[in-house]
Amino acid sequence: LRQAVLASSRGPGRTADGQPIQLLANIGGPSELAAAVEAGAEGVGLYRTEFLFLDRSEPPSEEEQRDAYRAALEAFPRGNVIVRTLDSGADKPLAFLPAQGAEPNPALGERGLRKARRFPEVMDAQLGALAAVASERLQVMAPMVATAEEARWFARACRSRGLPSVGVMIEIPSAALRAEHLLAPVDFVSIGTNDLAQYAFAADRELAAVSALHDPWQPALLDLVAMVGTAAAEAGKPCGICGESAAGPALACVLVGLGVTSLSMGAPAVAAVRAALAEHTLEQCVLAADAARAQVTAAQAQEAAREQLPGLD
Ligand code: PEP
Ligand code: MG
Repeated sequence: LRQAVLASSRGPGRTADGQPIQLLANIGGPSELAAAVEAGAEGVGLYRTEFLFLDRSEPPSEEEQRDAYRAALEAFPRGNVIVRTLDSGADKPLAFLPAQGAEPNPALGERGLRKARRFPEVMDAQLGALAAVASERLQVMAPMVATAEEARWFARACRSRGLPSVGVMIEIPSAALRAEHLLAPVDFVSIGTNDLAQYAFAADRELAAVSALHDPWQPALLDLVAMVGTAAAEAGKPCGICGESAAGPALACVLVGLGVTSLSMGAPAVAAVRAALAEHTLEQCVLAADAARAQVTAAQAQEAAREQLPGLD
C-alpha cells in the first residue's frame, strides 16, 4: 500500500479504483503559481482575480490582465485554468468606481456578479482580456450567482466573446437549490463552500464567535453539496469544489462521494488529498458520504465518515 501511495504522490488525482478526480490549486495571483506547480496540482481551480483590481486608483490595463491570465496557462501547459471574474463588494470596494454608500450588511450587499451587472464595463474589460488569451484550457466562472437568470446573463456575456468554457460558482443556497437550472446555460459549476456555509447558516465567515457553524462537516452543508453534485451528474457536467473544505483529506473523499469531480485547494493540501483518494475507492467515498449525511451533528458526521475511510488520521 505504501508503494502505491508513494507512486501516486504526483500525477493526476484518482481514487484507488481509478476514478479520475482533478486536483487543482486555488491561487490569488501569479506569485502563487510556482508553489501550485511544485505541489503537483494539475491546474488552477480558482484564480481569484481581486488582486488586479483592489487598492488601485485606475483599473488594470487589458495588457496587464492578459499577462496575469497567460502566466497561469503557461505555468500549467496541459492543465485547465479556471479564472473567476472579479469578486469585489462592499467590503472590497473599487477605488476607480463612483463612491458607493456604506452597506449595512456587506456580505449580503452588492458583491460579485451583482456589482458586475451594475458596472458592466469592468467585467467587459476582464472578459476581453480573457478572450484575448483564451484556449480550450481556459475556463471562466462568475462569483456570487444567486439565480438561473444571472447564470444565463453571465454565460451570454462570455459566449458573445467566444470564451469556450463558462461556469458559475455555487456559493449561495438559492443557487444550490436550483442547481439544475443554473447548470442549464453553463458548462460547469464550482461550489464555494466558504460562502455557501456563511449563507446557509447565516453565520459571518469573518466572525470567530460563530465559527462552529462553519465546520465543513455540518450535515446541512453536505446536503447542499449533494444536491449540486447530483444535479451536475444528471446534466453530465463537471462539478468542482473550491472552498476550504476541499483541503481536508477525509472530507475530500466525502465530497467525491457526493458527486464532486474536481477539488481545488491551497497548494500545501494537494499531496495529502491525492494520497487519501489513492487509498480509497469511489464506493468507499460514497459510503462515507452516506454515513456522514445520516448523522445529526458535524462531529458525528466526521466520525461516521472516518469509519468508512480507514487509514486516515
Ligand atoms: C468560497 O466562497 O468558498 C470561495 C471559494 O470563494 P472566496 O473564498 O474567494 O469567497
Ligand atoms: Mg466566495
